[in-house]
Amino acid sequence: MSAPLRLMAVHAHPDDESSKGAATMARYVREGVEVLVCTLTGGERGSVLNPKMDRPEIVANIGEVRRAEMARAREILGVEQRFMGFIDSGLPESEEEELPEGCFGLQKLEDASAPLVAAVREFRPHVIITYDDDGGYPHPDHIMTNKVSVEAFEAAGDPDRYPDAGEPWQPLKLYYQMGFTKERFEALHEVMTERGLGSPYSDWISRWEDRPAKWPVTTRVPCGDYFQIRDEALLAHATQVDPEGFWFVCPRELQEEIWPTEDYHLARSLVDTELPEDDLFAGIHADDVEPACH
Ligand SMILES: [Zn+2]
Repeated sequence: MSAPLRLMAVHAHPDDESSKGAATMARYVREGVEVLVCTLTGGERGSVLNPKMDRPEIVANIGEVRRAEMARAREILGVEQRFMGFIDSGLPESEEEELPEGCFGLQKLEDASAPLVAAVREFRPHVIITYDDDGGYPHPDHIMTNKVSVEAFEAAGDPDRYPDAGEPWQPLKLYYQMGFTKERFEALHEVMTERGLGSPYSDWISRWEDRPAKWPVTTRVPCGDYFQIRDEALLAHATQVDPEGFWFVCPRELQEEIWPTEDYHLARSLVDTELPEDDLFAGIHADDVEPACH
């Protein structure tokens, strides 16, 4: 029997794993891949974004509430999950606003990366998914998540780096999430408008700058059959998503029909692979797959 493939997804806050690449993870888990979500912060500074959950006892215990939500989402997706132990930086209201002392966004790169390097060396993923260097959206924790993921990808295999963080392990591929492309939202917008459903995306699309994508999509993973699981996991983060809000306006059946993939940019690869791909493990052969050291 060959050793299982392993996929690590690195995220900034609890709920990000359910809104970015969740159907991909749900699919791979059900195909026998081991999947570990590393959540860098506890989401302590997140606001309550669901009016039904905006109650004083929830706001007062937001850190604890979000841990419980994460545990539920983890079960739904079928993944393993670990917190890396950093404190949410919050989303500053202006560029001048300083980040709160001690938060993840203010850590030195080496300190911020050490727990993730240790997790990579322990879990030994073949593939890592993270955000692009703009963070996917400009939250300081998301930008930092890109930095520590790239650092871990590059340093985890080097015995001279992070010598106290375990036995070296070199992951083979690094991907950036590309779920929020203009192309995808335009396609959904067009069909929703055509079918008289009304589209929530017009403003958003019109504000989008028309320039070539900085990180072109290289890889589309078919996972429409898992959109329901993705949505259930996202709803488990009840303080963070309004079931009647923006995320759920576009009917799931329509998404499955019009855009049944989750999309990625292959940022680093140590194996030969032909682009475009439809599998994050394309180019990885049985010989590359060493067993995990548990
Ligand atoms: Zn986030």
